[in-house]
Amino acid sequence: MRQGFIVLISGPSGVGKGTLIHSLLADQTLNLSFSVSMTTRKPRPNEKDGIHYFFVSHETFLKNIEENNFLEHAQFVGNRYGTPRDYVEKLLNEGKNVLIEIEVDGARQLLKNVDSEKVLSLYIMPPSVQELVRRLRLRGSEDEATIQRRAERFKEEIKYKDQYQHIIINDELETCINDVKALIREKMNI
Ligand code: 5GP
Repeated sequence: MRQGFIVLISGPSGVGKGTLIHSLLADQTLNLSFSVSMTTRKPRPNEKDGIHYFFVSHETFLKNIEENNFLEHAQFVGNRYGTPRDYVEKLLNEGKNVLIEIEVDGARQLLKNVDSEKVLSLYIMPPSVQELVRRLRLRGSEDEATIQRRAERFKEEIKYKDQYQHIIINDELETCINDVKALIREKMNI
């Protein structure tokens, strides 16, 4: 059976990745499975353990680092996040394409360790930092200090955008979704 490939997506929180990912996963023709990360962050009200993330303690996370269970892991605004290695490899071997949504440091590690033929890497950008902050406020899931820290982090992150094969500006969500779907189909040769 043909192995699947990784669709690696990065971009600041608030850029619209949630909606993008939701519609990619809903499109069965893309044959995508979502890689559920492990994090030490506390769940947001709508988030479910095992679906959005595996929410764990710092101790559990550190144990998983020691046991080399992550394909990559990184710190982001005071919390740790990591991609479970076995889960991703199992899906790829089953012929699934695996959607991995991570920040730039983890992406750097992953791109270093995985054959570039096996990855489609995308960086999703907001039209501006101001627009990003506006969207984060609208979402209302973080306090103002956290929003400012995330905006600062974005200014740092953006320096790494050239490590991705494609940079996509999410100005109009529908266009962004269609552009990403077209790239995945191209990679699948359909
Ligand atoms: P959030 O707290 O908003 O869910 O995620 C914060 C950041 O962590 C986002 O940029 C998201 O892409 C990233 N992230 C989520 N899971 C992982 C992971 O497994 N590894 C890494 N390196 N980053 C992750």
